[in-house]
Amino acid sequence: MTGELFGSPVPPGTGWPGDPADASTPVARTAAGVRRLARSAPDVPTLDARVSVCCACPRLVAWRESVATSGRRASFADQPYWGRPGAGFGDPQAPVLVVGLAPAANGTNRTGRMFTGDRSGDWIYAALHRAGYAVQPTSEHSGDGQALVGVRIVAAVRCAPPDNRPSTEEKATCRPWLLRDLQLAEPHLRSMLALGSIGWDAALAAARELGWQVPRPKPRFGHGAQADLVTTSGRSVRLLGSYHVSQQNTFTGRLTEQMLDAVVARL
Ligand code: SF4
Repeated sequence: MTGELFGSPVPPGTGWPGDPADASTPVARTAAGVRRLARSAPDVPTLDARVSVCCACPRLVAWRESVATSGRRASFADQPYWGRPGAGFGDPQAPVLVVGLAPAANGTNRTGRMFTGDRSGDWIYAALHRAGYAVQPTSEHSGDGQALVGVRIVAAVRCAPPDNRPSTEEKATCRPWLLRDLQLAEPHLRSMLALGSIGWDAALAAARELGWQVPRPKPRFGHGAQADLVTTSGRSVRLLGSYHVSQQNTFTGRLTEQMLDAVVARL
């Protein structure tokens, strides 16, 4: 990575591996702009490009850029940071979607790829590799050769939030990106894996907003929980829940590799 990228978020189209945007990509600056640009995205690459330059949430834009410029973790102090939203990553025709919570400040916000460069990513990519969905067991930086087959990773919120806690308003502002991800995936979608209760709630809310049949009362989140959804074109989609692959679950043994593998096997 070039040294001139230090000290600022990466401008679109300047050579960062996997950057889906370029200087002509339209930028959403308001919630209405997110809705408009998400709805009109004709395909997954366009959606990813638009997500990756979004600036609709002032607090999150300020946070992601401050981490990228002056708040780099000491162990990454010599590295450039992405400092932009995390676009979806993986197979655009995937029958399986993984729905996470939000990028990590020193993970996706540093590397530019979902769940990449942090402990959470170590867990999810290893599990996807064991199941044959990832070509490598690790995902350390964009441009490392990692690729997903049959899986695409998206998130409820696409910018790293302070304390990993997006506000209710920020979740609502970001939701159209997820809605469009589900819409574009629907013709080939078979199942979704929601990581954590926020991913679970976001997937269910998006499905309901798209007019898909969602069981009532609302299915409760839990590790291994399942909700059977039906899309507007009549496709059955299985939603599975897993405890999030965050360190507070993996370090404490609340989530083990065996537990994660068992859920991934049901996708
Ligand atoms: S959280 Fe979502 S809507 Fe808000 S700035 Fe980031 S990408 Fe845009």
